[in-house]
Amino acid sequence: MRKVVKFGGSSLASAEQFKKAKEIIMADSERKFVVPSAPGKRNAKDTKVTDMLYACYETAEKEEDFKPQLKAIKARYEEIIKGLSLTLSLDSELKTIEANFKKKAGRDYAASRGEYLNGIIMAHYLKYTFIDPAEVIFFDENGEFDAEKTNTVLSARLEKTERAVIPGFYGSLPDGTVHTFSRGGSDVTGSIVAKAVKADVYENWTDVSGFLIADPRIIENPEGIETITYRELRELSYMGAGVFHEDAIFPVRKEGIPINIRNTNSPEDNGTWIVGSTCQKSKYVITGIAGKKGFCAVNIEKDMMNAEIGFGRKVLQAFEDNGISFEHVPSGIDTMTVFVHQDEFIHKEQKVVGSLHRLANPDSIDIESDLALIAVVGRGMRATRGTAGRIFSALAHVNVNVKMIDQGSSELNIIIGVANNDFETAIKAIYDIFVVSQL
Ligand code: ASP
Repeated sequence: MRKVVKFGGSSLASAEQFKKAKEIIMADSERKFVVPSAPGKRNAKDTKVTDMLYACYETAEKEEDFKPQLKAIKARYEEIIKGLSLTLSLDSELKTIEANFKKKAGRDYAASRGEYLNGIIMAHYLKYTFIDPAEVIFFDENGEFDAEKTNTVLSARLEKTERAVIPGFYGSLPDGTVHTFSRGGSDVTGSIVAKAVKADVYENWTDVSGFLIADPRIIENPEGIETITYRELRELSYMGAGVFHEDAIFPVRKEGIPINIRNTNSPEDNGTWIVGSTCQKSKYVITGIAGKKGFCAVNIEKDMMNAEIGFGRKVLQAFEDNGISFEHVPSGIDTMTVFVHQDEFIHKEQKVVGSLHRLANPDSIDIESDLALIAVVGRGMRATRGTAGRIFSALAHVNVNVKMIDQGSSELNIIIGVANNDFETAIKAIYDIFVVSQL
């Protein structure tokens, strides 16, 4: 058995946290491949090392004195090294970093040093082999992740390595320059490593005991999710549920490697299992609720629209021509509504309206702003009658007006559009009806 364990920034923010991580790793000999993030926040007011690096590099780019900022970064690592009583010096590494900052080696290079240095410490602390991701994780000329090349090189390299530390978040471009994933990208590295070693489990250690049914900023003490499928998770993360990087599902999904989200500060908790499919029923009809504010609905009306072949294409063309992606397109006989992100749309609004008139020649266009979308997700919905009915009666009960309904054909989720102002009330009502009233 082989397990890949990824530790997030808060799990490695201090020597104390490093000790917890080591204890977890040593408690199971199958935890052979470790993917660390850069040191995160030690407390609510603290700054992540990644953010310190971005700021430091910005100063270097302006050709101003960045040494005090680099010194503060160095201090973060030295505190960890000292707290772990290691005989390790990062002096020469920091000299190289300083020289490369002066040479303007790039923002991505700068940010990646957070994981790089933490990986050196971790490898030293565990006595595992250190592998620089720049040698084994690749992006193409356009900065897109090169899955094939990476998997070939990385699996060959790891086959020869019994136990290794592979820092998260970055790899290299064809010309050798360092390139990073988007923020939170160490989750993606963990998934790539899990695929390369054909891991039995990808454990993702963070500071919460897995996913919660709803956002704890809206619902006080929401229940946790024990098991969730990749598809359900995709729906929820797309709608804003945090904890795990959206793209991290893809490398392991095809291989059927389960992901276990665990809490470094509470390792006895089972956390959440993310799996391909399961016969395990979720405790409730719904698995989770997530949502986002800040959408606009563009309502397009045209008599006999239903009979006009190509009308939908012309409408969507108007959005495409202006570089705007759409979220949902509910339609009626003579109306079609396109949901878009307000902040993306707002600057191009009149251009899109112009294109719509030109391309689709509608009778009228009406725009509604400040809308929120809520996704109610659950594999259990397919087998349960009345789910939609319960959602809508719960919303009617708390006086929330439903502006849009969209149920995907997979019956995995129901998407509801409400006014931004009703967002929290709506989520509470849905949580109450499916979770609280079932307790
Ligand atoms: N350190 C990077 C960030 O703060 C990547 C990660 O932690 O996953 O975004």
